[in-house]
Amino acid sequence: MSSSPVPIDIRHLDQDQITEALSAWGEPAFRARQIWQWLWQKGSRDFASMTNLPLGLRERLQQQFVINGLVPDKSQFSEDGTIKNRYVLHDGFKVESVLIPVLDEQRFTACVSCQVGCSLTCSFCATGQMKRVRNLDPGEIVDQVEMVNAQSLERFGHPLTNIVFMGMGEPLLAYGPVMQSIERITAPDGLGFSPRRITLSTAGIAKMIRRLADDNPKVNLALSLHAADDAKRDTIMPINEQNNLESLMDALDYFYRVTRNRITYEYIAFNGFNDTLEDARNLARLTHRFPVRINIIEYNPVEGVEMEKSPIDRLDAFAAELTKLGVTVTVRRSRGKDIDAACGQLANKD
Ligand code: SF4
Repeated sequence: MSSSPVPIDIRHLDQDQITEALSAWGEPAFRARQIWQWLWQKGSRDFASMTNLPLGLRERLQQQFVINGLVPDKSQFSEDGTIKNRYVLHDGFKVESVLIPVLDEQRFTACVSCQVGCSLTCSFCATGQMKRVRNLDPGEIVDQVEMVNAQSLERFGHPLTNIVFMGMGEPLLAYGPVMQSIERITAPDGLGFSPRRITLSTAGIAKMIRRLADDNPKVNLALSLHAADDAKRDTIMPINEQNNLESLMDALDYFYRVTRNRITYEYIAFNGFNDTLEDARNLARLTHRFPVRINIIEYNPVEGVEMEKSPIDRLDAFAAELTKLGVTVTVRRSRGKDIDAACGQLANKD
């Protein structure tokens, strides 16, 4: 019994491959450019909408290829304007992205996912409770950006100003698709978004930080630090056992020297765990080798996780100590507290 071949997702082909496929059908090269624009610039997710192609070509494309776009599944709306979206992928798995508007600064940030689940098992994270299933395709990452951008325009009349790879998954372990998606997001014949407004957030894989420096896609880098000494960091982020702070600082120093791109430390304050004044002094010690700013983040509690968020007065004292030590620090109140806004919470539901 013969089974029919699984159609190829046309977004897995580069422009040369599309040109080649079309030339085998006797179509001129400019048709490939038109298709490319529909796919990556105009966000078309079905061949029928590619109206400047002849009908016969649209039908042939429809028979030979698919476009595995994301299907919106559920959204949660926070009182503070944050919107969390869950999408279904073509194989039934679910991922999420968040729109975080900061109206008084006219900042509209999309937080996107790069993997279904995550292999890194950070103890405070809802995604870490799911097994890693697969990396997203570049198209599935670009879809999130386009959909959140459309949402931002519709609700706030403003396009996205920032994109952070801080959703589900570890971007440096989905390196190929993440780099390809950044290329499509920033390309003039893609979404034309400035790489300077993209931040890639990593749990800290020294070897891959160096590779990112060498490839230099001109994006900013954030390290999810969350503890300023190895003994503590080992207990909440198992990845620290193979990538201790010294190796990470060396890699970040290299990243800064090669790229001069901005580096941020993300530091979730956990009550009684990493929020003492001594912790602040330890953290300040990690800021001397290269310019870095620190985002102190209020924890968004996750079901089944014992760690608690720091009370506001402790958090403020912690930040004040860092400022006193000359460190550039921002305190970020948790967003979307009334919805499942912590990474992985919504996708993990049901
Ligand atoms: S915090 Fe990030 S790296 Fe850690 S488990 Fe969650 S998604 Fe993975």
